[in-house]
Amino acid sequence: MIDPERLLSSRAAQIDASGIRRAFQLGAKLDNPINLSIGQPHFPVPDALKEAAIKAIREDANGYTLTSGHPSLQSSLRDSIAKELGWSADDDAIDVMVTSGTSGALILAAWVLLDPGDELIIPDPNFVIYPALGPMTGARVVSCDTYPDFCMTAERLEPLITDRTKLVIINSPGNPTGVVLSDRQMHDVSQLCRDRGVMLLSDEIYDLFTYSSMRDGRGRSPSPGTHGQDMLIVRGFGKNYGCTGWRLGYAAGPSWLIHEMSKFQQYSFVCAPSMAQHAVMAAHDVDMSGVISEYEGKRDMVLDILSPLMEVTVPEGAFYAFPEVPSSLGMSGTQFTERLLDHNVIAIPGGVFSDRDTHFRISFASDDERLEMGLRAIAKAVQEH
Ligand code: PMP
Repeated sequence: MIDPERLLSSRAAQIDASGIRRAFQLGAKLDNPINLSIGQPHFPVPDALKEAAIKAIREDANGYTLTSGHPSLQSSLRDSIAKELGWSADDDAIDVMVTSGTSGALILAAWVLLDPGDELIIPDPNFVIYPALGPMTGARVVSCDTYPDFCMTAERLEPLITDRTKLVIINSPGNPTGVVLSDRQMHDVSQLCRDRGVMLLSDEIYDLFTYSSMRDGRGRSPSPGTHGQDMLIVRGFGKNYGCTGWRLGYAAGPSWLIHEMSKFQQYSFVCAPSMAQHAVMAAHDVDMSGVISEYEGKRDMVLDILSPLMEVTVPEGAFYAFPEVPSSLGMSGTQFTERLLDHNVIAIPGGVFSDRDTHFRISFASDDERLEMGLRAIAKAVQEH
């Protein structure tokens, strides 16, 4: 007889994906809900990328690529990293690999760096995959409390580093908060990790979604990568170009680390999707600035409607806001998001991303009309209490 209890690993039991699933399940019961829970852009993939993907498929570029990526894509990413972060394009000490989504890069990095008993430091609140990297590798996850401003600063990080710490993950612009760290903060974090011999992984998946106040000369958010090349920079195409389902990301960092990650990719993901690799080679001619300004307008709408009623840390990037449930309501994030369902709005409770359940995440990647309806409904849910 098959007994799942006996067969499943203890790793599987330690990973809880019920929070987000629950939000989706509840939402599925609503009729035409205003769904502010979705973590992907609402715009279509730019035509140039669609055409390039279709062309690649028609021209039979459907087989495996090299494990680390199609050589043309790999070399153009290498050049763009060099130009943007000031890394040396022909330095053998650094390398770039194409991965199956940003998640692919995160998992590969964790596999090659972490042993059971090692420590991994992640921000709290955080993107939901980060805590799962613990059970996946046996490492202990240490949360860096970033409330109330959601900045993972060197001061907050430093007391958490021990001689078992191997990896620190930083994420700016951040999910679920949209908070962007300053160049100074990035400098200090990278310096701290270097001094303590810890690998810094910078998850920059939302780097193009940086609003005017925090955008630097590169048109992106500050990166620790401008302060050294002894770290792992992880980026993706899914959010920037609205092609999350194409599963494409990349990692840039020390050659020894990229080499080990490629080895694991060879025995797991094998390679990133081939047609998507061909498609994004057309991305450098695509100007997304119009879309980014449009999203900045959506961000402003969130602040205009919600800030008078609750604490909302200004999202300087990404497309999320993480407001605090007003204490006068006496409700947890979970209770408040359940209340929002009565108003036909789906949002995600803060407890899904954090040890605390005091906030809720909304995504403003939605058309303006639906977004405004959703925000007004949230305001009403607060006011009528
Ligand atoms: N990092 C962060 C911070 C994210 O929010 C997400 C997706 N929501 C990812 C990584 C994973 O992205 P991908 O779809 O490229 O795997």
